[in-house]
Amino acid sequence: MIIYRGMKKNKKQPSKPQVGNTAKDLGVRRCGDVTDTPCSKLCLCWSGRSNSCKDIPIRKGKVRPNTGGMSVRIDPYMPHFRLPIKKDRWGTFKLDLNDDKCRVFSLKVDDLPACLRLSGKSNHRLIEPSDPCSFDDFQKNLQGTQHKWKELTQCDYKRLVEKLNKNSNEGRNVVVGT
Ligand SMILES: [Zn+2]
Repeated sequence: MIIYRGMKKNKKQPSKPQVGNTAKDLGVRRCGDVTDTPCSKLCLCWSGRSNSCKDIPIRKGKVRPNTGGMSVRIDPYMPHFRLPIKKDRWGTFKLDLNDDKCRVFSLKVDDLPACLRLSGKSNHRLIEPSDPCSFDDFQKNLQGTQHKWKELTQCDYKRLVEKLNKNSNEGRNVVVGT
Protein backbone atom coordinates (compact mmCIF):
# COMPACT_ATOMS: atom_id res chain seq x y z
CA MET A 1 0.00 0.00 0.00
CA ILE A 2 1.11 3.55 -0.71
CA ILE A 3 0.37 6.56 1.51
CA TYR A 4 0.49 10.25 0.62
CA ARG A 5 1.07 13.49 2.49
CA GLY A 6 1.05 17.14 1.40
CA MET A 7 4.34 18.74 2.50
CA LYS A 8 6.86 21.45 1.68
CA LYS A 9 9.82 20.69 -0.54
CA ASN A 10 13.18 20.51 1.22
CA LYS A 11 15.28 23.46 -0.01
CA LYS A 12 18.63 21.64 -0.06
CA GLN A 13 17.25 18.35 -1.33
CA PRO A 14 14.27 19.34 -3.51
CA SER A 15 13.28 15.75 -4.23
CA LYS A 16 12.52 15.20 -0.53
CA PRO A 17 10.00 16.66 1.94
CA GLN A 18 10.95 19.27 4.53
CA VAL A 19 11.30 17.96 8.08
CA GLY A 20 9.83 20.08 10.87
CA ASN A 21 6.87 20.45 13.18
CA THR A 22 4.13 22.17 11.21
CA ALA A 23 1.14 20.66 9.40
CA LYS A 24 3.10 20.88 6.12
CA ASP A 25 6.34 19.27 7.31
CA LEU A 26 7.46 15.70 7.77
CA GLY A 27 6.82 15.52 11.50
CA VAL A 28 4.14 16.12 14.12
CA ARG A 29 2.91 18.92 16.37
CA ARG A 30 2.87 17.89 19.98
CA CYS A 31 0.39 18.79 22.67
CA GLY A 32 1.74 19.08 26.21
CA ASP A 33 5.17 18.51 27.69
CA VAL A 34 6.66 16.71 30.70
CA THR A 35 4.17 18.47 32.96
CA ASP A 36 1.14 16.93 31.16
CA THR A 37 -0.33 20.36 30.38
CA PRO A 38 -2.84 20.48 27.50
CA CYS A 39 -2.17 23.07 24.77
CA SER A 40 -5.30 25.05 25.70
CA LYS A 41 -8.36 24.98 27.97
CA LEU A 42 -10.45 23.60 25.11
CA CYS A 43 -7.83 21.06 24.07
CA LEU A 44 -9.23 17.79 22.71
CA CYS A 45 -5.84 16.13 22.14
CA TRP A 46 -6.27 13.85 25.16
CA SER A 47 -9.79 12.82 24.17
CA GLY A 48 -8.62 10.48 21.40
CA ARG A 49 -10.92 12.31 18.98
CA SER A 50 -9.68 13.06 15.50
CA ASN A 51 -10.44 16.79 15.76
CA SER A 52 -7.72 17.38 18.35
CA CYS A 53 -5.83 20.69 18.24
CA LYS A 54 -2.38 19.11 17.81
CA ASP A 55 -1.24 15.83 16.28
CA ILE A 56 -0.32 13.83 19.39
CA PRO A 57 -0.40 14.40 23.17
CA ILE A 58 2.55 13.70 25.47
CA ARG A 59 1.40 11.99 28.63
CA LYS A 60 3.76 11.18 31.48
CA GLY A 61 6.63 12.02 29.14
CA LYS A 62 5.54 9.58 26.41
CA VAL A 63 3.51 9.38 23.23
CA ARG A 64 1.41 6.27 22.72
CA PRO A 65 -0.33 4.20 20.03
CA ASN A 66 -4.01 5.03 19.39
CA THR A 67 -3.72 8.63 20.59
CA GLY A 68 -2.71 10.46 17.40
CA GLY A 69 0.10 10.76 14.90
CA MET A 70 1.05 12.19 11.53
CA SER A 71 -1.84 12.50 9.05
CA VAL A 72 -1.51 10.77 5.70
CA ARG A 73 -3.95 9.63 3.00
CA ILE A 74 -4.22 6.49 0.96
CA ASP A 75 -5.38 8.51 -2.06
CA PRO A 76 -3.17 11.26 -3.58
CA TYR A 77 -6.24 13.43 -4.13
CA MET A 78 -5.60 16.20 -1.58
CA PRO A 79 -7.73 19.19 -0.65
CA HIS A 80 -6.83 21.99 -3.09
CA PHE A 81 -4.86 23.99 -0.50
CA ARG A 82 -2.39 21.12 -0.27
CA LEU A 83 -1.68 20.99 -4.00
CA PRO A 84 0.74 23.19 -6.00
CA ILE A 85 -1.99 25.05 -7.86
CA LYS A 86 -3.49 28.47 -8.40
CA LYS A 87 -6.78 29.64 -9.84
CA ASP A 88 -6.84 31.55 -13.11
CA ARG A 89 -9.30 34.41 -13.57
CA TRP A 90 -12.02 32.07 -14.79
CA GLY A 91 -11.80 30.06 -11.58
CA THR A 92 -10.02 27.10 -13.16
CA PHE A 93 -7.24 25.46 -11.15
CA LYS A 94 -3.84 25.49 -12.85
CA LEU A 95 -0.71 23.58 -11.87
CA ASP A 96 1.81 25.94 -10.24
CA LEU A 97 5.18 24.26 -9.78
CA ASN A 98 6.68 27.49 -8.41
CA ASP A 99 4.79 26.69 -5.23
CA ASP A 100 7.28 24.71 -3.12
CA LYS A 101 5.08 24.71 -0.02
CA CYS A 102 2.32 22.39 -1.23
CA ARG A 103 3.81 19.28 -2.74
CA VAL A 104 2.54 15.73 -2.50
CA PHE A 105 4.91 12.93 -1.49
CA SER A 106 4.29 9.21 -1.37
CA LEU A 107 5.70 6.42 0.78
CA LYS A 108 5.34 2.65 0.68
CA VAL A 109 3.87 1.42 3.95
CA ASP A 110 6.40 -1.43 3.82
CA ASP A 111 9.14 1.21 4.13
CA LEU A 112 7.98 2.24 7.62
CA PRO A 113 10.41 1.08 10.33
CA ALA A 114 9.04 -1.37 12.94
CA CYS A 115 8.75 1.45 15.51
CA LEU A 116 6.06 3.15 13.38
CA ARG A 117 2.72 1.83 12.20
CA LEU A 118 -0.23 2.95 10.12
CA SER A 119 -3.62 3.22 11.84
CA GLY A 120 -7.16 4.04 10.76
CA LYS A 121 -9.58 2.70 8.17
CA SER A 122 -10.77 5.65 6.09
CA ASN A 123 -8.88 7.57 3.41
CA HIS A 124 -7.37 9.65 6.22
CA ARG A 125 -4.85 7.60 8.24
CA LEU A 126 -2.22 8.23 10.88
CA ILE A 127 1.37 7.15 11.24
CA GLU A 128 1.69 6.51 14.95
CA PRO A 129 4.23 4.99 17.34
CA SER A 130 4.02 1.17 17.49
CA ASP A 131 4.83 1.30 21.21
CA PRO A 132 4.98 4.03 23.86
CA CYS A 133 8.14 6.13 23.43
CA SER A 134 9.41 9.65 24.05
CA PHE A 135 8.08 12.39 21.80
CA ASP A 136 11.62 13.09 20.56
CA ASP A 137 12.13 9.47 19.52
CA PHE A 138 8.78 9.42 17.71
CA GLN A 139 9.64 12.64 15.88
CA LYS A 140 13.11 11.31 15.01
CA ASN A 141 11.64 8.05 13.71
CA LEU A 142 9.11 9.88 11.55
CA GLN A 143 11.71 12.25 10.17
CA GLY A 144 14.10 9.35 9.61
CA THR A 145 11.80 8.24 6.78
CA GLN A 146 12.65 11.40 4.80
CA HIS A 147 14.81 9.65 2.20
CA LYS A 148 12.04 7.12 1.47
CA TRP A 149 9.42 9.66 0.35
CA LYS A 150 8.97 10.34 -3.37
CA GLU A 151 7.31 13.37 -4.88
CA LEU A 152 4.49 12.92 -7.41
CA THR A 153 5.49 13.42 -11.03
CA GLN A 154 4.28 16.30 -13.15
CA CYS A 155 1.94 13.83 -14.89
CA ASP A 156 0.46 12.78 -11.53
CA TYR A 157 -0.11 16.42 -10.59
CA LYS A 158 -1.76 17.15 -13.94
CA ARG A 159 -4.15 14.26 -13.41
CA LEU A 160 -5.03 15.56 -9.92
CA VAL A 161 -5.67 19.08 -11.23
CA GLU A 162 -7.91 17.66 -13.97
CA LYS A 163 -9.89 15.74 -11.39
CA LEU A 164 -10.15 18.83 -9.17
CA ASN A 165 -11.51 20.95 -12.04
CA LYS A 166 -13.92 18.22 -13.08
CA ASN A 167 -15.27 17.88 -9.54
CA SER A 168 -15.60 21.62 -9.02
CA ASN A 169 -17.52 21.91 -12.34
CA GLU A 170 -19.82 19.11 -11.28
CA GLY A 171 -20.30 20.93 -7.96
CA ARG A 172 -21.39 24.03 -9.87
CA ASN A 173 -23.81 22.03 -12.02
CA VAL A 174 -25.46 20.58 -8.93
CA VAL A 175 -26.02 24.06 -7.55
CA VAL A 176 -27.48 25.29 -10.88
CA GLY A 177 -29.74 22.25 -11.19
CA THR A 178 -31.36 22.48 -7.78
ZN1 LIG B 1 -4.06 19.97 22.66
